[in-house]
Amino acid sequence: MFNASLKQLSLQLAEKKISSTELTTEFLNRIKKLNAEYNAFITVNEEISLAQARAADKMIAAGQANPLTGIPIAQKDIFCAKGWLTTCGSKMLSNFVSPYDAGVIERFNQVGAVNIGKTNMDEFAMGSSNETSFYGVVKNPWDVSAVPGGSSGGAACAVAARLAPAATGTDTGGSIRQPAALCGISGIKPTYGLVSRYGMIAFASSLDQGGPMAKSAEDLALMLNVMVGFDPRDSTSLQRDAEDYARDLQKPLAGLRIGLPKEYFAEGMSQDVASAIEKALEEYRKLGAQTVEVSLPNAPLAIPVYYVLAPAEASSNLSRFDGVRYGHRAQSYSDLRDMYRKTRAEGFGAEVKRRILIGTYVLSHGYYDAYYIKAQKLRRLIAQDFTEAYKQCDIIMGPTTPTVAFNLGEKSGDPIQMYLSDIYTSAANLTGLPAMSIPVGLGDKNRPVGLHIMGNYFREAQMLNVAHQYQQVTDWHLKSPV
Ligand code: GLN
Repeated sequence: MFNASLKQLSLQLAEKKISSTELTTEFLNRIKKLNAEYNAFITVNEEISLAQARAADKMIAAGQANPLTGIPIAQKDIFCAKGWLTTCGSKMLSNFVSPYDAGVIERFNQVGAVNIGKTNMDEFAMGSSNETSFYGVVKNPWDVSAVPGGSSGGAACAVAARLAPAATGTDTGGSIRQPAALCGISGIKPTYGLVSRYGMIAFASSLDQGGPMAKSAEDLALMLNVMVGFDPRDSTSLQRDAEDYARDLQKPLAGLRIGLPKEYFAEGMSQDVASAIEKALEEYRKLGAQTVEVSLPNAPLAIPVYYVLAPAEASSNLSRFDGVRYGHRAQSYSDLRDMYRKTRAEGFGAEVKRRILIGTYVLSHGYYDAYYIKAQKLRRLIAQDFTEAYKQCDIIMGPTTPTVAFNLGEKSGDPIQMYLSDIYTSAANLTGLPAMSIPVGLGDKNRPVGLHIMGNYFREAQMLNVAHQYQQVTDWHLKSPV
């Protein structure tokens, strides 16, 4: 049951082979047994989960089931969920019980999915290793001395360790795809604007996008069918006709043109990752695809541009955490300014403070043009590279990360090294393009390797097709560390 796909679980529920209450109880028991080792969940709330499961069982009995009705889904602790502690991995929100549901949570509730718990994450989604969480590091289930990736590390760990059938994540510079890659699961960041950001605690609003993490492309399609949709409460939410993201899964790949950016297949990628990617490309050629070299000349600028813009937006977004309305407040202080200072000094961790300082600096008078405006101009050039590349190919592929999972503590003292984990992923956020990661092999120390698949705007169905066809002829996505 723990290895079953969403479709299989849905069928078992429909055929009454199992009830949602039983299914939910099984996963809750597994979390109870294993979470102490992995630390994938910050909050588990049996009472709410089981109440949702009972409601789902009624929906199923009444013949009102959607494919995800009654299925337990792990929710990243960045999504506000009514009645749930919602911490964003921070001491600042360690006492915040959300009075309302995020747009994404509402959509899962509407179809009767069960919230199985809130997953651990880097503090305010800032990180690539899940080591910045106030709630402690998450372990990689493939090797507990390795990081699970970040910032959606709890989500990736939960799916890989079979503590949940699927999970939500958010991706500002790679936080769905990078942990998916390091934990050997599949994850997709949709085109910017498809998934509502309402109630999704903001890090860098022009880059943040929610998306699903699951065992296979087919599962991702079912998750996206629930998660995507217009939300008037998010000013950048897109109003488009509803799509069935599973509609193209079975299409043959003959004639597909896969672009391989020469800048991605250069120095920087480790040997074990390179060979797993090469083998995956070989499979694609067997499936009838052809590969063409493309160029993204500004690709090397993605990291510096991202690390100007993301902190700039974060410094503005995080100014709301001041101890006045909600969240942590310092115990003793002399006046209002002292209260702000002490609250923020106590409530934020080191990485969050670093981002606020960098962001405030690049937005300040005298540096704004040199850094912030310059980065915005480069962001446009990076996007133009992709427009050019997509004239020669349908899909772009490369590695999701330059190496397999690194060890806990290996990069936490060196922010620059940590930031370089996002070298292949951050361009998708800067451009708003959809991108995903699927497992394609095991590298050094038997740690998973992810293939990065990037599509043009709104080509999620095509990307899922490309991923699904590979998963029909290989079994990397079925491998589990537990
Ligand atoms: N690792 C990147 C950062 O720390 C991206 C994080 C994310 O996508 N949320 O900013």
